Amino acid sequence: MRQTMARRLLDRMFVAGEIVEVEQVATRMRRIRIGGEALAGLAWTPGQHVRVLIGDGRGLLGGVLRTYSIWRHDPTWEALDLIGYDHGGDSPGASWARNAAPGQEISFTRPEGGFVVREGSYHVFAGEETASVAFGAMVRDLPEDAAVYGAVEAEGPGDHLELPRELVRVCRNGAPAAGSQTLVDAVRKLDLPDEPGVAYLAGEARTIQAVRAHLVNERGWSRRDVHTKPFWVPGRRGLD
Ligand SMILES: Cc1cc2nc3c(=O)[nH]c(=O)nc-3n(C[C@H](O)[C@H](O)[C@H](O)COP(=O)(O)OP(=O)(O)OC[C@H]3O[C@@H](n4cnc5c(N)ncnc54)[C@H](O)[C@@H]3O)c2cc1C
Repeated sequence: MRQTMARRLLDRMFVAGEIVEVEQVATRMRRIRIGGEALAGLAWTPGQHVRVLIGDGRGLLGGVLRTYSIWRHDPTWEALDLIGYDHGGDSPGASWARNAAPGQEISFTRPEGGFVVREGSYHVFAGEETASVAFGAMVRDLPEDAAVYGAVEAEGPGDHLELPRELVRVCRNGAPAAGSQTLVDAVRKLDLPDEPGVAYLAGEARTIQAVRAHLVNERGWSRRDVHTKPFWVPGRRGLD
């Protein structure tokens, strides 16, 4: 009886699917395609994320949640793509991305989040590997003639995700992604119009703060033109 109730509750909280395809899209990044009838008609705004239940397979208590942006979703398709970055170690999210394989069952929450494209005369994106997944979906969502600028930092040249529009690529080459000066310098070098546009900053929390400080203090942007979403923080687990 208790098990049936728990099952019903989990069914209401989670969407159930199955991994149908996995592709290595960069040295440490894998695109994980999830398919299933429940995915048809799932509402999604590009930039939104889901929380994947990791640990106990489909809908069993005891798993942990980890957050992943949706790279691509077409409701008519009955599938969606996530891209997991393997930052190393044995933490649940990194291990899941590393070991995902077709045939595995998966439960995840419905798409949510307000990190989505806004009105602006131009758009600036800055972040590292994890952020580039959301950026891909958001850039694809913009009209073809929208002005897009930005910088993406990754560990090495093979770690960059192929994005729908060209953003400046920089590598940190072994330096920490946390509090990264490499990304701030790359944004500083962007040749942006004089008037502020709208910026989207995601990834490691301290790096985001530093990029925002640059836009606000050095370029004179208002804080409300800068949309930030911390994706992870050193030493903290399962942010968001
Ligand atoms: C809205 C949102 C969208 C996200 N989208 C994506 C996405 O599309 N793809 C993706 O790969 N990640 C994405 N992330 C980031 C991802 O959820 C975190 O990296 C998460 O911590 C990974 O879980 P974990 O179990 O491996 O590590 P956790 O158990 O959460 O953390 C263990 C430790 O690992 C370290 N760590 C965590 N993440 C990183 C990292 N990226 N690099 C270096 N060290 C790290 C930290 O020190 C942390 O204390 C997103 C996060 C949010 C909030």
